[in-house]
Amino acid sequence: MSKPRLALFDFACCEGCQLQIVNMEEEILDLISVVHPVQWREAMSEQSEEYDIAVIEGSITRPEDEERLRRIRERSRFLIALGSCAATGGINNLKNQLNLKEAQRIVYGDAADMPHLDTDSTKSVDEVVLVDFKVLGCPIDQQEFAYIVRCLVLGKTPEIPTYPICVECKLQENTCRYEHGEICLGPITRAGCGARCPSQATWCFGCRGLSDEPNVYAAREVMDKYRKTPSDLEERMALFCSKPRYDHE
Ligand code: SF4
Ligand code: SF4
Ligand code: SF4
Repeated sequence: MSKPRLALFDFACCEGCQLQIVNMEEEILDLISVVHPVQWREAMSEQSEEYDIAVIEGSITRPEDEERLRRIRERSRFLIALGSCAATGGINNLKNQLNLKEAQRIVYGDAADMPHLDTDSTKSVDEVVLVDFKVLGCPIDQQEFAYIVRCLVLGKTPEIPTYPICVECKLQENTCRYEHGEICLGPITRAGCGARCPSQATWCFGCRGLSDEPNVYAAREVMDKYRKTPSDLEERMALFCSKPRYDHE
């Protein structure tokens, strides 16, 4: 049986998630034993338009990107959103919290009025097309990406944790970052990274997005216990865990 053909496409992002895949080194050979890459700008020069699995990195910020994404979806049997930018809008969502013109001025200064910089609100991939699987994280976890691709090839549904990071953190026996006077988003962030940041003595900034049923009550209790305020929490959530949309009209 021929291997499914995989094509990787990038939109608005830093391409760090692709780099994670490139850096899989020997493990990438295992992955290539189950899928056949046919388009991947960062890693190969061939560009076939015939593929079964489309992997989308980056968020969607321009009308022409929406059109390109829809064409990719039409050509593919399965579509994977790779990394926070694609899966949730990621760090690009910061733009949605500002007036669009103001955001452009902050980033591009005097060049902000150039026509090709006239972007729209940030959208996650599933706000434009149907997404079959999401690989969360900024950047993604290499093992989780390989696991999701293998599940897809085998026709299995990947099991992605629905519980919060705190569960993994407790299993690692880390000292809670709140004990160090920090605000950590572990109580409301989806697990799956093995509590990577608290295990390296830093707070979770929520890059995997909100867990299915974030335990807001428990988070509030923790905040009260350590004399933090809801606005402290909201400020920290601005990066990855909230998506207020400024009216850009
Ligand atoms: S999710 Fe993070 S690492 Fe991945 S492309 Fe976006 S900004 Fe870069
Ligand atoms: S709040 Fe953060 S540091 Fe504390 S247990 Fe949860 S994940 Fe770990
Ligand atoms: S601990 Fe939090 S910020 Fe760090 S990788 Fe995991 S989800 Fe992302």
